[in-house]
Amino acid sequence: MECIFCKIITGDIPSKLIYDRNEIIALEDINPQAPTHLLIVPKKHFENAGEIAENNPETLGEMFRVAKELANGLPGYRTIFNTGAEAGQSVFHAHLHLLGGRAFGWPPG
Ligand code: AMP
Ligand code: ZN
Repeated sequence: MECIFCKIITGDIPSKLIYDRNEIIALEDINPQAPTHLLIVPKKHFENAGEIAENNPETLGEMFRVAKELANGLPGYRTIFNTGAEAGQSVFHAHLHLLGGRAFGWPPG
């Protein structure tokens, strides 16, 4: 089992877990791109958001609910799923980025 997020979930790799309830964890991104940069991750391994939607759609809703909970107090925040290497995905265990604490440009890079 080579998946880094599966290893974080089993505790084989240490991480700064800031949320762990039911089917979802959240942790601080190791290479933050904003003052707040959290990753919201389903405990079950899915490759990307589309796979979650097809197999466990309620988990997607719960991930966005957790994002709202963890973004509490931020005046605005950005949630991102990268799908595929061309879109910037580097870890192929689905995760929702939650970024906040600064202004963001549009379109994204
Ligand atoms: P993505 O490029 O969308 O697949 O996002 C993967 C994210 O995981 C990147 O922002 C990485 O900085 C982050 N990351 C990789 N390894 C770890 C780790 N061990 N702990 C926390 N975040 C990680
Ligand atoms: Zn995994």
